[in-house]
Amino acid sequence: MPRPLGNPTASAASFRFWRIPLLMALLIGALLVYERQQRGVRGPLTYRIGGVDPRFGLSREEFSGAVAQAASLWKQAVSRDVFRADAKGVVEINLVYDYRQEAADRMKGLSFKIENTKGSYDQLKAHFETLKRESDLKSSGLSQDFADHNSRVATFNRQVETARQRGGVEEATARQLEAEQRQLAIKKEDLVRRQEELKTAIETLQSMAVVINEIASNHNLDLVNYRDTGSQLGPEFSEGIYEQKGTRRTITIYHFPSHDGLVRVLAHELGHAKGLPHLDNPQAVMHRLMVTEKPELTPDDVAALKAKLAK
Ligand SMILES: [Zn+2]
Repeated sequence: MPRPLGNPTASAASFRFWRIPLLMALLIGALLVYERQQRGVRGPLTYRIGGVDPRFGLSREEFSGAVAQAASLWKQAVSRDVFRADAKGVVEINLVYDYRQEAADRMKGLSFKIENTKGSYDQLKAHFETLKRESDLKSSGLSQDFADHNSRVATFNRQVETARQRGGVEEATARQLEAEQRQLAIKKEDLVRRQEELKTAIETLQSMAVVINEIASNHNLDLVNYRDTGSQLGPEFSEGIYEQKGTRRTITIYHFPSHDGLVRVLAHELGHAKGLPHLDNPQAVMHRLMVTEKPELTPDDVAALKAKLAK
């Protein structure tokens, strides 16, 4: 016999009873989030400095100085505070060291001249192609020499084994085998040294590919490909990013070419935090790509901010 399912009216009533406070809590929550965001649009948007990776060689104070400089660009444009530093700031700003900065630092260490210009791109790309050809040649030569060496070692081992089975060899043959053993050891050392050199050359090429592709993405030029460096880059290579995940709002800077470039990329990401979109003018701080490192707003940037503040 089936069990009674209970009183449907009572169940509906208790359902409604539970729903009302739940809906109200959700509504209040949503209003609080909305209000917090609106405060960001009307009054100054507060920010705080999060993590500053020491590998940039920039102190926390220097980094906050750069952020303050970026904030003041916007402030000067509209003669009022647009951003304000606050220990409990809404937007957290981080400086994160990753492969991009590592590649740039490595290139500086090798005294490569790097500028965010088409000329620098052309020069680096030509240099990259030459190095890549050289390294490909070295690589195939090395593989061949390793194969030759290995077959020589196999022959040597067979000779030694034969001698062992015979219970010894003549004086002359023994001296020959010893000489061959010394030769093989010298050859092996040489191969290992060449392998190390090749490894360094490949690391240089990878760093070059990262740096070249960064400039390329800033000028809409062709990317170079060096094994897995292409996939690391993602669809849009950028020096920094503004993100909002739930109520957490962050600006992360991964890489900057110079102090001016840092201020410019910070101004760009702060602009996003304030709700500004990308602008078509390539000279604008709010342009998708950093074509110049100058920390200066264009009239287009200022107009975009004014329009946002007027809303
Ligand atoms: Zn952007």
